[in-house]
Amino acid sequence: MFTRPFRYERAGQYTDACDLLRAYGEDAKVIAGGQSLLPMINLGLVQPGVLVDISRLAEGREITVQDNGYLALGALVTHARLAADTGARAAQPLLAEAARRIGNNRVRNRGTLGGSLAHADPAAELPLVMVALGASYEVTSGRVSRSVRAEDFHLGFFTTGLDADELITSVRAPVLGPGWGWSFQEMSRRDGDFAVASVAALIRSADGLVVEARVAAGAVSDRPVRLADVESALTGCAVADIAARVGPIQGIRPADDTGATAQYKERLTRVLVTRALEEAAGRSGEAA
Ligand SMILES: Cc1cc2nc3c(=O)[nH]c(=O)nc-3n(C[C@H](O)[C@H](O)[C@H](O)COP(=O)(O)OP(=O)(O)OC[C@H]3O[C@@H](n4cnc5c(N)ncnc54)[C@H](O)[C@@H]3O)c2cc1C
Repeated sequence: MFTRPFRYERAGQYTDACDLLRAYGEDAKVIAGGQSLLPMINLGLVQPGVLVDISRLAEGREITVQDNGYLALGALVTHARLAADTGARAAQPLLAEAARRIGNNRVRNRGTLGGSLAHADPAAELPLVMVALGASYEVTSGRVSRSVRAEDFHLGFFTTGLDADELITSVRAPVLGPGWGWSFQEMSRRDGDFAVASVAALIRSADGLVVEARVAAGAVSDRPVRLADVESALTGCAVADIAARVGPIQGIRPADDTGATAQYKERLTRVLVTRALEEAAGRSGEAA
């Protein structure tokens, strides 16, 4: 497969990048770490006429724990930095753990948070964790900026609520609160492969009872899915009874593929949900 020749533009700021996207229209694609876009170009799945490089912007690399209980992450933060940053890990260990599970060293060193969220692969770790956390994404067209909830942003297979001239600039994720425990569970065929199924969970417990739970599943639908039925079934239940409360998982739509059948993925998701909730509850108990 030969790559179609393309024009290369390096943006100095997000506003420049948005202007370039408007100027070149549908023929233009933004490139950050290139870890999803370049394989797609090489496979001929996309053939942009213009690449707008945002990888060298001065902005967009911040990792800041804010006074208001949020972790602010620039869209150009790499997966490797997110996994290794001690401040980010202390503030929201679920995110750091998910970033650590992505691909291999090369992918983590070059791939960016904004790229992963915008690419919207239903099996990707970071969108799943953002949905579980109730994070929001800051998005700009250079003229207008807006905040989009992760659950509203991911619309389907490789599909998001971004307009053609919009970019993700940063993410706001809640810091792990007092008494909360967390867990990230993933099954993949080989270390570093995309997940067959994955689950992110958070629990706050007190006196052996679940006070609040948040749980989401990845790779088993066209987008990360928050498991509202599981969450409500757990509220008020004894931590020791968690496994008994997790029934067949509602709201997911796994598909057969070369790696596993839909039925297997359904059963696997239930196992991972149970493991994640039990681990999160254990950590919540330690944190209390
Ligand atoms: C071998 C291999 C294994 C991988 N394994 C995993 C894995 O296990 N889990 C996983 O989650 N991912 C995996 N990936 C994908 C990887 O995480 C990518 O880094 C990530 O999906 C995209 O980030 P990027 O910065 O490289 O984006 P790019 O490839 O540069 O761009 C991806 C898409 O996002 C758009 N984009 C980039 N930045 C922005 C922005 N700020 N705002 C709006 N749009 C933007 C681009 O236009 C493009 O459409 C793997 C990739 C490879 C090559």
